[in-house]
Amino acid sequence: MMEQSYINEGKKRVEECWKAVRCAVEEAAVQAGRDPADVQLMAVTKTVEPVYINHAISLGAHLIGENKVQEFLGKKPELRGEYSAHLIGHLQTNKVRQIVGQVDVIQSVDSVKLAREIGKYSEKLGIVSRVLLEVNIGADPGKFGIAPDALAETAAEIGEIPGVQVQGLMTVPPFDADLTKTSGFFSNMHQLFIDIGQKKLHNVSMHILSMGMSGDYPAAIREGATLVRVGTAIFGARNYR
Ligand SMILES: *Cc1c(COP(=O)(O)O)cnc(C)c1O
Repeated sequence: MMEQSYINEGKKRVEECWKAVRCAVEEAAVQAGRDPADVQLMAVTKTVEPVYINHAISLGAHLIGENKVQEFLGKKPELRGEYSAHLIGHLQTNKVRQIVGQVDVIQSVDSVKLAREIGKYSEKLGIVSRVLLEVNIGADPGKFGIAPDALAETAAEIGEIPGVQVQGLMTVPPFDADLTKTSGFFSNMHQLFIDIGQKKLHNVSMHILSMGMSGDYPAAIREGATLVRVGTAIFGARNYR
């Protein structure tokens, strides 16, 4: 049992941090000459206990992101309030069956094979799953995602799969302490987002550009992100047990 005073302290910290990040997101949008309403702030809740997630939801964090199918499904029965959940972590084909229909968007589609599996189970449920294509913008061998030069072709192919609808792009750039390099990756993503959108592919629309995390979300907003995924800056350092 966690002690109540300990939980209350934690909730207070989440509240302060949520408000600060909310404010910083709006400020970055305004400074970039963008409408703050065009940038969604996602609270990334991996490893976070439901009590704190629910507190964030009550404060207005209506969009949450989880990395792992099992972890999300385990916490879901305890989540309260009005929220929409996205899967943002790597998805293995053997887990697709469990997650389809349980989240509003799967952001981490990185292959035609995975999209086919999602389409298959979506059709079984009689739904269309909204997905984003994950792009390995820095050609980082340690990261998942579609190579930028294969993106148009892959998007076209996935757009033909029944049961899935492509609504945008997502990326995690390679970590670099130099923010100008990271900004360059974000800028390249924005260009891909525009280019793919202009192709008017079947069942492929470019509505969501998901990029930017605790360390770099203002830069991502400057470069055109429509959704930033922030964990640590809202909930504190993660405790992986
Ligand atoms: C964990 C995670 C985030 C959030 O990262 P922070 O640095 O804690 O803000 C965003 N996107 C993905 C895909 C993640 O796995």
